Amino acid sequence: RVEERGRNNFKVISPLGSIESFKSFSLGRDLIKALENNEMVLYYQPRVDTNTGKIMSAEALIRWEHPEWGLVSPAEFLPLAEENGLMIQIDDWVLKEVCNQMKKWKEEILWTVPISINISAAHFLKQDWLDTIEETIQEAGISPCDLEFEITESSFLNNEEIVKNTIYSLREMGINISLDDFGKGYSSLSSLAQFPFDVIKIDKSFIQNMLISKQNFFIAKSIIHLAKDLHIKVVAEGVETLEHLKVLRNEECYQIQGYLFSRPVPVKEFELLLQKKILKPDDPKMKDKQSQ
Ligand code: C2E
Ligand code: MG
Ligand code: MG
Ligand code: MG
Repeated sequence: RVEERGRNNFKVISPLGSIESFKSFSLGRDLIKALENNEMVLYYQPRVDTNTGKIMSAEALIRWEHPEWGLVSPAEFLPLAEENGLMIQIDDWVLKEVCNQMKKWKEEILWTVPISINISAAHFLKQDWLDTIEETIQEAGISPCDLEFEITESSFLNNEEIVKNTIYSLREMGINISLDDFGKGYSSLSSLAQFPFDVIKIDKSFIQNMLISKQNFFIAKSIIHLAKDLHIKVVAEGVETLEHLKVLRNEECYQIQGYLFSRPVPVKEFELLLQKKILKPDDPKMKDKQSQ
């Protein structure tokens, strides 16, 4: 075992390096220019009503169209952005992009839905952030009620007072606040008592494991019922199969997001989904069964 570990370590520090470390090095190097060069794009993933499939809102999710590496996922480049102090710049770009997109939809009189944006922890500590938001929203002429900010509990760490004040100010402006990835990492029930959330998003790990593990099912179920008692909307993430859907319907989970209804898609494709308004579940497992 020790030998194996030794071998792995050797791999990482070998002079040639691994493809992974080379990729991450080159991504980190290119990141600063990527924003200027318009290489970032937003994909949109609908959040649907559990019973009807109607699109209720959508989450904007960033991707990087790298000239050499192709489409790079946020899991790969956001940690590098964080290391390089670029998260605020990225979040500001996302907010602007979403506001402009919503303005365009309004002008084209396309039926639209509220859009949610992931906000990184760094932003909550920035003094003039609220002014920036207000300006961006006003310039685009959209309603703050059509925006939702998703934050994770890691944002509160060591900064509870500042974050709480910011959340209150955002809600006063009319922006909805959701607690993302609930149950994962540093979760604490006390944050539900302290912070005024509009929405709780159950972390996808509980949904994805709830059919194979009773523990995960009971946790998902408890979060749904807890949210209901607290009068907070609840959304399940990572819903991939009809079985997941059935269980969540049974527990009266308000809304869901997941590959079963749609993956995150580019804006043109999302506009086609908006035209449909109501989505049908598309379970890959069922297709396999049908074609057998
Ligand atoms: P998140 O905010 O929890 O977003 C949900 C993630 O789950 C997305 O991954 C989405 O593609 C994925 N997902 C949705 N449905 C399913 C499903 O049914 N199965 C599975 N396996 N996955 C599903 P994505 O787009 O790779 O984003 C990963 C994370 O990166 C996000 O997690 C969020 O924390 C962060 N992120 C993405 N875009 C942005 C952004 O614009 N700004 C900031 N600050 N963070 C972002
Ligand atoms: Mg999110
Ligand atoms: Mg997240
Ligand atoms: Mg999440």
